[in-house]
Amino acid sequence: VALPEPITALSEALCRLPGIGPRSAERLALHIVQSPADEVRRLAQTLVQAREKVRLCSICGGLTESEPCSICSDARRDASLLCIVERPLDIFALEKSGSFKGLYHVLGGRISPLNGVEPEDLRLAELEARLGRGITEIVVALSTDVEGDATSFYLAKRLAGKGAKVFRLAHGLPAGSGLEFADEVTLSRALEGRREIPA
Ligand SMILES: [Zn+2]
Repeated sequence: VALPEPITALSEALCRLPGIGPRSAERLALHIVQSPADEVRRLAQTLVQAREKVRLCSICGGLTESEPCSICSDARRDASLLCIVERPLDIFALEKSGSFKGLYHVLGGRISPLNGVEPEDLRLAELEARLGRGITEIVVALSTDVEGDATSFYLAKRLAGKGAKVFRLAHGLPAGSGLEFADEVTLSRALEGRREIPA
């Protein structure tokens, strides 16, 4: 006798979440169908509410409840300084280090021909639209691996002659990992020691 169909359907839905394999999905589904109905209803509501309340800031691409986000709308931030990151989560990592006072721009990935990610798949048009509004310094803060490096150099070339100097983080970030794995001190040092990328 197979599991009741609703359990299989729930398992399959959970399995589409990142990091959840078929076995964990089945365990979660079995747990959910045996939990108090109220609890499950609350969980479902929390899921829907989170999704409905959180959006991407139309300027920087970061995760936010307000539009534009609190960083983009903060007049005390240094609008001459722009930090380019790969994912919305990276903004929180840099903010935690407390050492960056400029604005951010989420690229949405990095160039990776092997995985079919081309420059036009990234938020480059949005980035170029922001230039010329007093931005004089750009810090490219991508993870330090082959694709991150290639993307940084591509950006330096593409942004050359648009009125801003392009820098990258100093080495010292753990190789091949995202910003979220770097501790706050390492991130601060990497920012302070930033070096200009020759275009
Ligand atoms: Zn924003």
